[in-house]
Amino acid sequence: MAGDSSIISQSSEFLWVEQGQQREGLVAEVAPILSTEKTHNFCVYEELAEAIEIGQRVLVQIGKRAREVEGFIVGLDHKIWDSTLRPIGQCVDDRSFLSEKLVALGRQIGLHYACSWGLALKAMLPEAVRKESGLLTVRYAKLVTPLEKIVQQPGRLSPKRRAILDTLQQAQEPMSVDVLLREVGAGASVLSALVKCGWVSLEIRKEMPKPDDVVIEPIDPDFSLNADQRAACDQIEKMAQRGSFGVMLLYGVSGSGKTEVYIHAIRRALAAGQQAILLVPEIVLTTQLVSRLTQRLPDVALFHSGLTGSQRSIMWRRVATGDKKVVIGTRSAVFVPCPNLGLICVDEEQEPSYKNLQTPRFHVRDVAIMRANLHRIPIVLGSATPSLETYHHARTRQDYHLQVLPSRVMSLSLPKIHVIDMRDEWAECKQPVLLSRSMHRLLGETLDRKQQAMMLLNRRGFAYRVFCPTCKSRVMCPNCQVGMVVHAPSKQCRCHYCNLRTPIPTHCMNPTCGQLLQQVGFGTQRLEDDVRGFFSDAKIARVDSDTMTHRREYERIIKQFQDREIDVLIGTQMIAKGLDFPHVRFVGVVDADPTSYASDFRVNERLFQLVTQVAGRAGRAESGAQVVVQTTMPELPAMRFALHHDFESFAENELAVRRRAGLPPFARIVRLVLSHPREEIARDEADVVVRRIQEVLSTLALAGAGVLGPNVCAMARLRNMYRYEVIVRTTHATDLRKLMGVLREQKCLFSKAKSLVVDVDPVSFS
Ligand code: ADP
Ligand code: ZN
Repeated sequence: MAGDSSIISQSSEFLWVEQGQQREGLVAEVAPILSTEKTHNFCVYEELAEAIEIGQRVLVQIGKRAREVEGFIVGLDHKIWDSTLRPIGQCVDDRSFLSEKLVALGRQIGLHYACSWGLALKAMLPEAVRKESGLLTVRYAKLVTPLEKIVQQPGRLSPKRRAILDTLQQAQEPMSVDVLLREVGAGASVLSALVKCGWVSLEIRKEMPKPDDVVIEPIDPDFSLNADQRAACDQIEKMAQRGSFGVMLLYGVSGSGKTEVYIHAIRRALAAGQQAILLVPEIVLTTQLVSRLTQRLPDVALFHSGLTGSQRSIMWRRVATGDKKVVIGTRSAVFVPCPNLGLICVDEEQEPSYKNLQTPRFHVRDVAIMRANLHRIPIVLGSATPSLETYHHARTRQDYHLQVLPSRVMSLSLPKIHVIDMRDEWAECKQPVLLSRSMHRLLGETLDRKQQAMMLLNRRGFAYRVFCPTCKSRVMCPNCQVGMVVHAPSKQCRCHYCNLRTPIPTHCMNPTCGQLLQQVGFGTQRLEDDVRGFFSDAKIARVDSDTMTHRREYERIIKQFQDREIDVLIGTQMIAKGLDFPHVRFVGVVDADPTSYASDFRVNERLFQLVTQVAGRAGRAESGAQVVVQTTMPELPAMRFALHHDFESFAENELAVRRRAGLPPFARIVRLVLSHPREEIARDEADVVVRRIQEVLSTLALAGAGVLGPNVCAMARLRNMYRYEVIVRTTHATDLRKLMGVLREQKCLFSKAKSLVVDVDPVSFS
């Protein structure tokens, strides 16, 4: 192989091989931390060969101009190489913080989410872990010149110096400086003098601080599993023994005992000498669930966004060394290296918060499935309202298993749900009111009885409703016969199914009516004021994403509510999740219209989830709880099914709609968002991207694949940037990977726009 002469001269001073000659040696494959797909090979010097491992960060030179970049070692192999191969520059980290399986996982994340291997690995590894934050820096001293040689030198050694040298000679291996000086009774200056002479060398080591956790013996509850739970555990056991990958969807209403199944399955893995990961949505971590789990499981390492860098890095190390056996945590916990992973559980698998909001925009549940597949272990996805993707897979795919927990453990009745049509209410009150008369009455009764209430309102800035106060009809999509949603910032009505956008009409489109339409919108602040005004004696607290910035503040309010120091808890949907307050007897959903919390084809799914979650909050200790759901769309099928707690029929109905419309789970979607401070540039660049994708699509001929757009995003302008979206769709996941691969290879996803975000399997379309 005739090499590029500039490259040879660049590195010739390091060459082991004469030009043109070949030899065998260690070759490292490196994935640079750049957006480029390509990995590069480098030779490894013998002196580095010992110090280098897969997953380690190194500095290398790439390209004609020998640009210096950081990258991860993703492969190590003995190969024939010649002088054209550049050497590894130097190690950035002195060890790897990722296992080989995690490096392989990074590759799959890159392929699936259209991001480079190097960037995927970077996203997987927290900075604090890499910097070994929280580890103690310990200095070690070592004798480097033999004592016999030192004593032969002219000049007399002071007794303290001599004592240090003797101690080090005896120790034979490096000694901690602190221990050495203490033993000898010498000051640091004596040692520095010896270092200056070159007789003693110092090295710095990172060591784990002594664990200070209190050892808690796991406690056992006084009940045994019921038949359904036992069946689920047996099935997991069977999957584990097969030693192959498999997904279980554990579907059961809240209170059906799913958590108990996780605990048993995790304990079984521990008994087999394995580790386990349990992933939970962020919000759940502040609740009783975690304290319950930590009481029931030994050696738990907890990962959540409230950890300091040091805490995170120490935890990571403890799991990686096998010291901690159970990982419980939010997103990043899915990447903690476990030398002997036996089980992964994902609680509330349908939670949108499992989606990462930075590149690569991975979904933690899906990454967890990839990881379980790499480890050839079972994964359990738990939910009371499974995502339609998971539910569909569980019913159709070989490697999925649907396990149902059909009833509540305590055989409590589910609460009574009242649906209030707010259009009637407004027509009768002659103005848009926030609280219906039923809501008002039931809340009042609850407070009179000294019971607690929760009130939900998702206050999203662009959530408005348009309706006709005269004939009550809504604005419908002419293509799809579904109600259109109003987006205030872009002043548009949109159809979530076909993406049609129209200006907001001013008059009713019903030909026999034609009256002026009315627009209304409310927020949580207004709700709090109203409730205070009506019930001046009640103690009221409000929780939303603004007040949630301080985790402790949130925890304090939750605790006060638990201790019954608060009567009414007002908040966004976040208070509907995972919390368990036995004395809540009334829950009010102020605005259940999907427009207030979803702006895409998942509106019905989100509505069903919301009502089900809310129903799960009320009456957890006693029967007879009441739920009021206010809406202007009581006719939505999702609402009807939710009232009867009928997930199966809801899923049947919704999946049929999705199939007809060619939407997930019957298709894969990628959303591209281009933004620029100048609107025409954002739009033109989006046009360019669409054309390029069309060209590529015409050469690939993938059945059912297509591109839609560009369209203005729901949030048309964000942080002074105009935003346009392009939607790419294919029928099969493999087609999508192929298409994205070609698009990246042909640089179709590079743009003059300020940013081009690629979101594979998006969960939000804002
Ligand atoms: P989920 O996770 O499905 O909401 P949990 O596992 O939290 O359900 O169970 C709900 C409640 O029932 C918990 O208080 C739990 O301790 C209790 N529980 C779970 N399994 C049983 C059982 N087999 N017998 C009695 N109580 C149980
Ligand atoms: Zn439509």
